[in-house]
Amino acid sequence: MLSGKVAVVTGSTSGIGLGIARALAMQGCRVVLNGRRQTEETESLRAEMAAATGSEVIFHRADMSKVSDIETMMAGASRDLGPVDILVNNAGVQHVSPIEEFSTAAWDLVLATNLTSVFHCTKAVLPAMKQRGWGRIINIASAHALVASPFKSAYVAAKHGMVGLTKVTALETAEKGITCNAICPGYVWTPLVEKQIEDQARSHGIPAERVVREVLLAPQPTREFVTVEECAALAVFLASDAGKSITGAAIPIEGGWTAR
Ligand code: NAD
Repeated sequence: MLSGKVAVVTGSTSGIGLGIARALAMQGCRVVLNGRRQTEETESLRAEMAAATGSEVIFHRADMSKVSDIETMMAGASRDLGPVDILVNNAGVQHVSPIEEFSTAAWDLVLATNLTSVFHCTKAVLPAMKQRGWGRIINIASAHALVASPFKSAYVAAKHGMVGLTKVTALETAEKGITCNAICPGYVWTPLVEKQIEDQARSHGIPAERVVREVLLAPQPTREFVTVEECAALAVFLASDAGKSITGAAIPIEGGWTAR
């Protein structure tokens, strides 16, 4: 169904991005993996995915908080594999702190990585998608694109912004065979979540061992983490022909969090 399509997945060396890249490669997509640095570990990830799926998988390094890196990566992806058919804007970072203590550097990094990169990647792929009359842009937002939590000012602002940008992109491309949607996961157990346990404990004034039950899973009525595989399956559906009339949507996959 997606055989031969060229897919770029930003921030795809771990967690949700890695899962989506693998699922797209399983569907026959030719995949560009991305991370800040090219290392032996990223090379073995790439080789393992190519061997397991039989699809072409390449790696392009780019720091997604830097415009020049993004432009170089997107040009390299088209040069190496051809025009991009599927763009998954997944790279993201988190910073947990009350606003008064939130450093300007942390604010700038979260906004650049989680929001501004989406603008630059989208801008890079649209001309060729419009020319060929087909494209899928899938933005990995968050339940925090729909509702807020304390101590996550930059993240919540960036993810809400991502949904706004998703809607504008959808409207500008609606008659061109292109869709743009945001996937809004609740908590998924990945390095991004693991790394925030200590900061959440400090900000909420509770011990780290209480964070999972009392902070992370408290707003999720299912009381279970969403899985990487569930997010990947949704991304594959949105990329498929069955998803062609879904555009401009912010789709929750959060165990009922935003039903409250
Ligand atoms: P993760 O830390 O495993 O993945 C984030 C990825 O982004 C990593 O591969 C990381 O290397 C990459 N990245 C970060 N900064 C980068 C930069 N400057 N340049 C290039 N790559 C960079 O965490 P994850 O949970 O898989 O997060 C993936 C996306 O899903 C993020 O946008 C995150 O906000 C979103 N999300 C995660 C959850 C969750 O609970 N885990 C929930 C909702 C949304």
